[in-house]
Amino acid sequence: MPLDHDLTDLMDVNYSPLQGLQPELIGQCWLVLFEGQVVLNDESTGENFLWYSLDKFQLAIKQQGIVTGYFYGKAAGVVELSSLTVETGTISIRALLSGSDSTVYSFLSHGLQILTSRREHAFCGCCGHQMQEKVGEWAMACAQCEHHTYPRISPCVIVLVTRGEEMLLVRHHRHGKASTMHTLVAGFVEPGESAEEAVHREVLEETGLTLGKLHYCFSQSWPFPHSLMMGFHGEYKSGELVLEEKELSFGGWFHRDNPPELPPGFTIARKLVDLFV
Ligand SMILES: [Zn+2]
Repeated sequence: MPLDHDLTDLMDVNYSPLQGLQPELIGQCWLVLFEGQVVLNDESTGENFLWYSLDKFQLAIKQQGIVTGYFYGKAAGVVELSSLTVETGTISIRALLSGSDSTVYSFLSHGLQILTSRREHAFCGCCGHQMQEKVGEWAMACAQCEHHTYPRISPCVIVLVTRGEEMLLVRHHRHGKASTMHTLVAGFVEPGESAEEAVHREVLEETGLTLGKLHYCFSQSWPFPHSLMMGFHGEYKSGELVLEEKELSFGGWFHRDNPPELPPGFTIARKLVDLFV
């Protein structure tokens, strides 16, 4: 049986992304980044991760900011600093996302990925010439050979595997030995593969299990750096748990009434688990 879900908390209502670069549009509020951290402002009004003027940063701006969309009706953009000249606090992007609603999440996820695209496609992959941002699209264009690149989106699958009243949870080496957080099996979709095939392959590779019924649930953009996570629910079919030890440090079945430590609420892993527990 598909697990019931309501998409409202995954749907953003107050961030409207632009469909491309509009250089004439003047930003009214800015997400300011320095070395991968969000620079916080100390003004008592509005959101403390947004700046309503960039005057204090004029000499420290790395490259002209990009207006990416409308955040609660205000033209909102992202800008990176080459040095932090203002005495103020910073917060990691993950920490900011963990306390944010879907509007903030959408704005951050979009803006970060536009910046990543500008950085990763600074030079043409065909001829090596410098690329320029194209007006009206989120594309980088080569003036030499006319090659275009668009922001890269990397499809991934993530799956809640259930067996009766139990769910399969794993821990990854990359979260560190000290972490007690349990999450779901996930992985990138390979070239030529469907999302469903990727789910079956990842579950088999990482845990030795085969799945029966598989249902697509929902997806989430994940800006680290440009994943599109597609969330599934798969029912256990057969096999004994044999972990892929290079990636996983632990894997086991947990009763739905007694889950261990789980990822924070903004993650698709948690939203999938929450359908079940
Ligand atoms: Zn080129």
